[in-house]
Amino acid sequence: MGEKIWIFDTTLRDGEQSPGFSMNVEEKLRMAAQLAKLNVDVIEAGFPISSEGDFEAVKAVAQNIKGPVICGLCRLLKIDIDRAWEALKYAQRARIHVLGCGSDIHLQYKLRTTREQMIQDSIEAVKHARSLCDDVEFSPEDATRADGDFLCQLLEAVIDAGATTVNIPDTVGYITPGEFGALIRTLRERVPNIHHARISVHCHNDLGLGVANMLAAIENGARQVEGTINGIGERAGNAALEELIMALKVRANYYGHYTDIVTEEIYKTSRLLGSITGIHVQPNKAIVGDNAFAHEAGIHQHGVLSNPITYEIMTPQSIGLPRNRIVLGKHSGRHAFAKRLEDLGYELTKDEINRAFSRFKDLADKKKEIFDEDLEAIVEEQLSSVADVFMLEYIHATTGNQTVPTATVRLRREDVVLQDAAIGDGPVDAAYQAIDRITGIPGRLIDYQIKAVTSGKDAIGEVHVKVQFNGDAASGKAASTDVIEASAKAYLNAVNKVAFRAKRGKQP
Ligand SMILES: [Zn+2]
Repeated sequence: MGEKIWIFDTTLRDGEQSPGFSMNVEEKLRMAAQLAKLNVDVIEAGFPISSEGDFEAVKAVAQNIKGPVICGLCRLLKIDIDRAWEALKYAQRARIHVLGCGSDIHLQYKLRTTREQMIQDSIEAVKHARSLCDDVEFSPEDATRADGDFLCQLLEAVIDAGATTVNIPDTVGYITPGEFGALIRTLRERVPNIHHARISVHCHNDLGLGVANMLAAIENGARQVEGTINGIGERAGNAALEELIMALKVRANYYGHYTDIVTEEIYKTSRLLGSITGIHVQPNKAIVGDNAFAHEAGIHQHGVLSNPITYEIMTPQSIGLPRNRIVLGKHSGRHAFAKRLEDLGYELTKDEINRAFSRFKDLADKKKEIFDEDLEAIVEEQLSSVADVFMLEYIHATTGNQTVPTATVRLRREDVVLQDAAIGDGPVDAAYQAIDRITGIPGRLIDYQIKAVTSGKDAIGEVHVKVQFNGDAASGKAASTDVIEASAKAYLNAVNKVAFRAKRGKQP
């Protein structure tokens, strides 16, 4: 049966820190709960000293998520490590991840220090981390461009100091599979105490080789891999964990190793990340793309119908792709509705179900078939709404190729009804201008995305926005069969986050 490969998920740390993917505490918690269902071995929840928000997120994940090891990143500094432990100490199982430096390029230009000093600082940091926590991972940043002798010395020193996992990051996505396999083999041959630690690899996709590099490392003795769901991450992203996991599973006859992942949760995990961040994978994305299991060519369809094995190397069920996508309609009852939400992985209170059910009934009046994606859109919107400072009561927009786009908006703020109208270069712009005039919180739209949640002319439109307000930025989302309404609500969702923060004086 081979050996177990540890799956270390850094979606909430390395993934989250890339542009467009930031998540608040509540969103990180929801994502972490799903990662626990997927049964990853380690969740790296954040970089606690980097911000108050990151600290709170790591702490919340440590307090609430059971199962996986909860990990936080820190530099070699004592204050970093203490701060990380402050957040991690609540976890059932915790890991401190200390980040040193491997390459001369980073030593000279980033840290302005020497190899000798790096070894000393790393030993001290690992020792300090071990005095707090039994499970300590050490990573020399940019290891794939490091001098081989130095890398061996550094790893030997940190393992002696108590590191239980040594991670080799290809920080800049530079290495190729053959070289990476050879590097891991060399470390196993030349670092005398290497068997006291688990070897891990952390791969980036700058050359599209992240997963291939991980597989080469596994073939040469690595037993932990670090990546993200959907391959999100800085620049071209991190290696996509779902691809690595399914490669090991589908080609178990070749690799001979296994993971503890519940692969049937892969699809749901990928979808949840997409709906939280508003960035979905491309249709041809391996494993989780919309077309990954679609057979278009007639000759392929014929083969698949007579036996799926003709063109499918894995089944859609193995990643948890829902079979029957039409789920509910106008006449579905509350019970069927609640059951379906449960199947989709949502654990809602009675009150939340009731609110979602009334949105569902409204939607069913406008749209014949309700798909899983529609339900997700309803629930996601509900869960992402903060305590609303402003509520949309009414919107009317006119547009056309011969008229000036105009919008009239009525909002409610507690018991006060506020109304205004504005013109714009389109109906969405006009609606946003009107909202700005009412709220007195002018925003600049940084990003606007609209997407049909399902197929069909009656599909729900889901709008994601990022808005820069005076000194504060927020994202917002909303869904409706009317895209102008969805656009206004998404913008208002962002306004409400900022207004709510201002009211409470801190981040939600
Ligand atoms: Zn990275």
